[in-house]
Amino acid sequence: MVSKQSIRGDAMRIDIVTLFPQACSDFLSTSIVGRAQRDGLVDINCVNPRDWTDDKHQTVDDRPFGGGPGMVLKVEPLAKCIDSIRDTAPDAKLIMTSAQGEHFTQNHAQSWSEEAHLIIVCGHYEGIDERFVELYQPIEVSIGDVVLSGGEIAALLVSDAIVRLLPGALGHADSAKEDSFSGDEKLLDHPSYTQPREFRGLHVPEILLSGDHGAIAKWRKEQRLKRTQQRRPDLLE
Ligand code: SAH
Repeated sequence: MVSKQSIRGDAMRIDIVTLFPQACSDFLSTSIVGRAQRDGLVDINCVNPRDWTDDKHQTVDDRPFGGGPGMVLKVEPLAKCIDSIRDTAPDAKLIMTSAQGEHFTQNHAQSWSEEAHLIIVCGHYEGIDERFVELYQPIEVSIGDVVLSGGEIAALLVSDAIVRLLPGALGHADSAKEDSFSGDEKLLDHPSYTQPREFRGLHVPEILLSGDHGAIAKWRKEQRLKRTQQRRPDLLE
């Protein structure tokens, strides 16, 4: 049998730059993402810009110039933190979570799953000093038209979507191809059922119990088309 590591070669690396590493660690060690790390498919580190401050109070934020509410993340600790990661990995792709970024989709996940190294920067409070964006020109990504208090959930979302696409991360090599927005067709997924065969008068569709793999594949394809037509006709355009 081919080992999981030999399918991919070196592990992918993801550095999540966050003031709140503890908000990420449980998630990263659980389920598919946790297993992918233990299997050597990916190495995810949380890096805290606070470690790159040089004042007594380890200041990472300050009041906005021009007044107004909230705090803004300072550019120096972030810049030093990114520079230090890039010292060992100059080609890492730099991503910044932002409500104002391009919407993250399965296409991003697919394309970034082929990168060797990603750095994902999490903002917090009012956001990040704009000079960070001017100097480092990160790809800004949003997880939707909604404002979060910090980028951690967005960074975990992006990491999760990427890691499950790494060869060997899911139990079955074809699982990801049949998911919503995936494969060549980019349809929504078909409905799924498991035991018991009957629950509160609702039965599993007979065809799924037939053992006829051709008929099951045809039914699933019809369901995928029907769902996509009903729920997301824009995907068929
Ligand atoms: N004042 C900013 C919001 C700051 S929210 C604005 O109105 O655009 C603080 C941080 O949370 C952001 O810097 C970003 O890192 C993260 N964040 C908030 N909403 C997000 C979203 N929809 N997608 C990705 N990250 C988001």
